[in-house]
Amino acid sequence: MITASTGARITPSAPAAPADWRQLWRDAVTDTGELLALLGLRHLVGRLPPADAGFALRVPRGFVARMRHGDARDPLLLQVLPQLAELDETPGFVTDAVGDMAARAAHGVLHKYHGRALLIASGSCAINCRYCFRRHFPYGEEIAAAGQWRQALEHLQADASISELILSGGDPLALTTAKLEELGRGLAELPHITRLRIHTRLPVVLPERIDGPLLAWLDALPLQKVLVLHANHANEIDVGVDAACRRLRDAGVTLLNQSVLLRGINDDADTLAGLSERLFAAGVLPYYLHQLDRVQGTAHFEVDDTRALALIEALRQRLPGYLVPKLVREVAGDAAKRPL
Ligand SMILES: *Cc1c(COP(=O)(O)O)cnc(C)c1O
Ligand code: SF4
Repeated sequence: MITASTGARITPSAPAAPADWRQLWRDAVTDTGELLALLGLRHLVGRLPPADAGFALRVPRGFVARMRHGDARDPLLLQVLPQLAELDETPGFVTDAVGDMAARAAHGVLHKYHGRALLIASGSCAINCRYCFRRHFPYGEEIAAAGQWRQALEHLQADASISELILSGGDPLALTTAKLEELGRGLAELPHITRLRIHTRLPVVLPERIDGPLLAWLDALPLQKVLVLHANHANEIDVGVDAACRRLRDAGVTLLNQSVLLRGINDDADTLAGLSERLFAAGVLPYYLHQLDRVQGTAHFEVDDTRALALIEALRQRLPGYLVPKLVREVAGDAAKRPL
């Protein structure tokens, strides 16, 4: 339960027992009016697009608790709140910005880059990020976990050049641990797969997902394990996220982070430097800073390349090299992410 305090932030009341992540997932805020009321921003209700601009609002209550009360420009709020600008039709902004449909190798399998295959493991996310390509992706037919991962495992078996399996989505940790264990058993038959990488925002937006059974599965998995988080601002990382990261590292997982460069949210050097420092304090190394995929309804988040490069240069001047993320763009048909 969330109660609005008189202070600057909303503080959750202490739960009697640790809540189950599925319950917290279901309990997310999905009503814009409720979200704005929780934050003391009821006056913004009249400025929202009709029908959430075709992509539902969804945000876990623990993430709402990290937003500043009464601040319409809060960087966490701006990542999830539907905006009128999403209705603008901007030339060059399309529904499949990264050529995913062309790279489809098998059911739910994207095989674009050498040695790495990516599975669209799940179409669900605990949070809906306004800048995401997911707002247009036809997940219905494309989930690799459907059945017993059979088509995905067949594709991996047939190509011994693949050494790394990447689970992406949606959010792969939306799957039950039992479903992930099923994949793990299939991978045990494929000796050429030596690394498992998981792209997930759940340790940040719903750290309760990093529970005992998931950690036990990761710990026992006879592969190298990499987990790539997705945080865009230091305020997303609180003590619950710290604790989830510590438990993951204890289970033998290497932690990296990818961010999206977002206008009005993290497009200044202080914010990006603060994010890198905060990530490292949680035991996470910055990996990629993505230029926005040009997805319809997201043009208002775009930062131009000149400014993006100036920001990276400013980070190089003030941070150790290992805390400067690689600035990249995904270009359809390229053999790797393209550095700027
Ligand atoms: C981004 C991506 C990868 C991973 O690329 P890295 O540079 O290794 O992080 C792999 N496959 C697909 C389809 C991707 O989009
Ligand atoms: S795929 Fe990632 S960026 Fe997109 S909505 Fe899900 S958590 Fe957000």
